[in-house]
Order: sequence, then C-alpha cells, then structure tokens
Amino acid sequence: MTIELNFDSREEEINFPPVTDFVKLYIKRDDLIHPFISGNKWRKLKFNLLKARALNKNHLVTYGGAYSNHLLATAAAGAKFNFKTSAFVRGEEIINPVLDLCKLFGMNLIFVSREAYKEKYQLLESKFNNDDEIYVLEEGGYGMEAEKGCREIIIELKNNYDHIFCSAGTGATAAGIINQLSLSRLKTKVHIVSSLKSGEFLKPEIDRLLIDKIDYQLHTDFHFGGYAKTKPELINFIKDFTKQTGILIDPVYTSKTLFAIQDLALKDYFNKDDKILMIHTGGLFGILGMMDKLG
Ligand SMILES: *Cc1c(COP(=O)(O)O)cnc(C)c1O
Repeated sequence: MTIELNFDSREEEINFPPVTDFVKLYIKRDDLIHPFISGNKWRKLKFNLLKARALNKNHLVTYGGAYSNHLLATAAAGAKFNFKTSAFVRGEEIINPVLDLCKLFGMNLIFVSREAYKEKYQLLESKFNNDDEIYVLEEGGYGMEAEKGCREIIIELKNNYDHIFCSAGTGATAAGIINQLSLSRLKTKVHIVSSLKSGEFLKPEIDRLLIDKIDYQLHTDFHFGGYAKTKPELINFIKDFTKQTGILIDPVYTSKTLFAIQDLALKDYFNKDDKILMIHTGGLFGILGMMDKLG
C-alpha cells in the first residue's frame, strides 16, 4: 500500500478586520489535509512512515500528552497504512474524546507517571525490549524526517509572501519552513510563534534541524500562560475569528499565532498591504479540551 494522502491545502485570502485593514492575510489550509491526520502532523509523519515501511517495521511507538494531536494522527495513520500503533501517555489513566478516538483507531495506550515519562528510552526498553518490529517516533514527531516533510508546505505555495507565520511546539515544522524558503531562495520573513512558556528553548531545537545558519523571528510573548493554558482574551479572539471567517482554529497553537499577527498589525509592525501567510497547522481536536470555555 502506498503511503500518500490526496488533499487540497489551498492558500485562502481571508477578510478579518481590523487586521485586513492593514495587511493582506492568507491562510494555507493544512487543516484540510485529513480530519485526523491533520495539518503539520501529516507533514511530520509522511517520511517517517515511508522509512518505517522501507525498514520493514510494522509497529509505530510514540509519546504524548492526553490531548496530543500527534497521538491521534499516528493512530489514524497507523490504521490507514497498516501499522500497529502504541503510545506512552503522560499522566494517570484518564479518558477523553481524543484518547477514545486513538483507541478506536486501534492504538494501544500505555499510561505512565510524569516522572516515568521523562525517561523515554527506559520506557521503551521496559515495554518493547529487543522488539525489532518497532519504529519509534519522537514526542510530537520531532526529527529530520519531520523537518523534511514540512518543506513541502513551502514547495506547494502558489504565491509569494512578505511574511509567513507558523506555530511551534517542538520546532520541526518551523525548521522545514525555514529550510525550504532558503533552498527556494525566497526572501520571505519567517515568524515562529511559541505556544509554550519560555519559548526561547525552541531556538536550539529549530537550529538543530536547519541546513544552514538562517535568520528567522521567534515570538515568545504569545503563549497566554503556557501550553494548555488560555486567557479570556484568547477565548474571545477564537470566537470572534471563527464567527467572522468560518475557519476553526485551535486554542493551543493556531489561535495564538493569529493573535500574534493581529497584535503586530495593530502595532504597525508591517508595511501597508504586506502579504502575510499563516500556516493553519490543523489540530482542531484541541478544541475538545477547552469546550467548557469555548462552547
Ligand atoms: C503539533 C502542532 C504544532 C506544533 O508543531 P511542531 O512541529 O511540533 O512545532 C503546531 N500546530 C498544531 C495545530 C499542532 O497540532
């Protein structure tokens, strides 16, 4: 079975005043790649799945938190492309809609304490000692294969932009975008928005995957308290954006990136009518983790 998805991730111009009174705003709809193997998670999985297949590994093993888009994408991709899947889940055993979906796709969930979760190789050894059928995906899918897959986001572009914005958790998607812009000799300025507190940690993680020393802007002030945290200002922003554009955004990543674009636009950071592209990295099931606030 070939490992490929057919999709239409188009670049859509959106009307979102007051931002679009200052600049032209486009969104690359990677959220439309697949309902569950969504956004950058497909980009990051693709070359890993091809490698696993080439190495004759039929069991994907990975790590994640209880609302991890990466776990859900791995589970769905495993079911679709004929891999067994297992995941170490951080924290005590719980159920939620995302984990239920992972199970439905056949993923074997192994709940481990936060302390045990930190010792990733020990976990592997204790559970899958000498199992030569397993292919290990790092937490969040981070790595060289992921970076390579994310270059395709830029390869697919039909237009040129002055600025490209993308969210970051591990930085692999960011690295793919930055690398390909350089390889394609484009002068687009790249902005990476950290969803996590103390986002400076992302710089070495991104730089480790870069093919060269390349300049980009890392924004660390739009985390809204941290990874799974939020604030009323962000919740209101999500409601307003969704109502105005008809495009769903998730509370963990893409909403913070769009908020950053709005914030910078209102502070006159951009030139009038600059063309700005925001990469919609998908992950909409994150909404289910905050339905109490968003509904
Ligand atoms: C996982 C995820 C990210 C983070 O991507 P990294 O490559 O780990 O930086 C960004 N946006 C969404 C919606 C995600 O699900």
